[in-house]
Amino acid sequence: MQHIQHKIQRVLALLFCLCVLPVTASAKVSVLATVPEWGALAQEIGGERVDIFTATSARQDPHRIEARPSLIARARNADLLIATGAELEIGWLPVLLRESGNTRIQPGQPGHLEAAGEVVLRDVPQAVDRSMGDVHAAGDPHFHLDPHNILPVAAALTERLARIDPAGVETYRSNLARFRTRWQEALVRWEAAGAKLKGTPFLQVHRSFGYLAHWLGLVSRGELEPKPGIEPGSAHLSRIVTAQQTSPAALILRAAYQDETAGRWVAERAQIPLVTLPFTVGGTPEAKDLFSLFDDTLARLEKAAGNVEYSKNSPIPPRGGGAGGEGVFTSGRTP
Ligand SMILES: [Zn+2]
Repeated sequence: MQHIQHKIQRVLALLFCLCVLPVTASAKVSVLATVPEWGALAQEIGGERVDIFTATSARQDPHRIEARPSLIARARNADLLIATGAELEIGWLPVLLRESGNTRIQPGQPGHLEAAGEVVLRDVPQAVDRSMGDVHAAGDPHFHLDPHNILPVAAALTERLARIDPAGVETYRSNLARFRTRWQEALVRWEAAGAKLKGTPFLQVHRSFGYLAHWLGLVSRGELEPKPGIEPGSAHLSRIVTAQQTSPAALILRAAYQDETAGRWVAERAQIPLVTLPFTVGGTPEAKDLFSLFDDTLARLEKAAGNVEYSKNSPIPPRGGGAGGEGVFTSGRTP
């Protein structure tokens, strides 16, 4: 009996060593990414030297999440925070930073990187007031969907990692070089595939796809939200359906995390497809990393646009019974 106990103790001791030693022997840089696209980028650049935690999943609205205790615990131990910035996380990141008590990741520190500082933001409003809804006052923060914006963020992330972990500088720089080569090759492929989408008019639930549209030359016909962050009601959606007769859209774009009720309602009445795009890494089963995020986005757009019988010069005729009456859309939430 004692013999067995000794054996168990030896096995437990061995297991303890196996579990604990690799972690303590090579402490990794702890990276906290606010959204999946930056978590994926940190993986590309940091490789084996980083331990990444992503605060939101592709199924969550990055504009509004809760700074829950488990997230605060992660922030407390982080060496580097990578956020989108441009007020995307304004509803929760300041609370998280304050509650973390972690001086390393506060604004102005090497451990605080805002991707928005590396790119040129589009759609910066002239003036902002509360009547405009939950408007992005610093400009559109959804810039990761123009793939040209990924490379400058990758370069900035590389330099931050090198500052925080100087021993890894060679690794980070060679990972960046490899990533840049692969990304530039992919850009050629994506832009060739995306060329046939140029000029396609589209509606979107929220203004999530402004940069994607700018990159591909898609033409915006507006948002289903009456104002940013405000759920559309039936009267507003009916007006959008009616407007299809004079300025039709070929597609309605929805990010995987967004509710599909409004999009489906308009899609059925206007007889155009509602296309769910991953929006970020993990938004669809296919979008496993930054490369497949764009591969899948383009594949879904091409498939949907290819199925639409659409001529840019002829408006889409209204469906048999007209646009549908007010009050049919029952989201339960009217602005
Ligand atoms: Zn937004």
